Amino acid sequence: MKLPILHLVDGIHQFEQVLKPESLNFYRQALYPHPLRVEVELNKFERNIQSSIRVETTARYECDRCLAVYEKPLMLDFHLLFRIGKDTLQTEEDEVVVLPAETVELDLGEWIQEQLVLAIPMKMLCSEDCKGICAGCGANLNEDVCSCAAPATDPRWDKLKTLRK
Ligand SMILES: [Zn+2]
Ligand SMILES: [Zn+2]
Repeated sequence: MKLPILHLVDGIHQFEQVLKPESLNFYRQALYPHPLRVEVELNKFERNIQSSIRVETTARYECDRCLAVYEKPLMLDFHLLFRIGKDTLQTEEDEVVVLPAETVELDLGEWIQEQLVLAIPMKMLCSEDCKGICAGCGANLNEDVCSCAAPATDPRWDKLKTLRK
């Protein structure tokens, strides 16, 4: 997402854009197959641009327990402070991005991607109490009743079992 900033006057500016998922083109793209709605508010004051960014989309995850694909609405809010030109001031802020003096467009793609990566849950669960898959018969225990009496643990029997079916 590129925003024109070269001739931006001081004050508040709002931008809204719907990004095609394929335009992200990053390594976790498969998790974000739906359009992304991005709202940006830029507050420019001299060489500083304060930005508030909101990204809304629906993520597609695969449950770690039952392997079902499920979707989850996502809303991410983040802020960045840009400074145009050489930074002569000493600041204590961490999140200051210094841009070259003649920057024509502010490209937010990199930061949007970073937030989308950070938003990926450590554990993907279709629901908190997902029962997972039976190690013995492979039944999805959320939908089916386990069909094996005693769960087999030896994977060598798996082939035999599929033959029997
Ligand atoms: Zn699950
Ligand atoms: Zn079973």
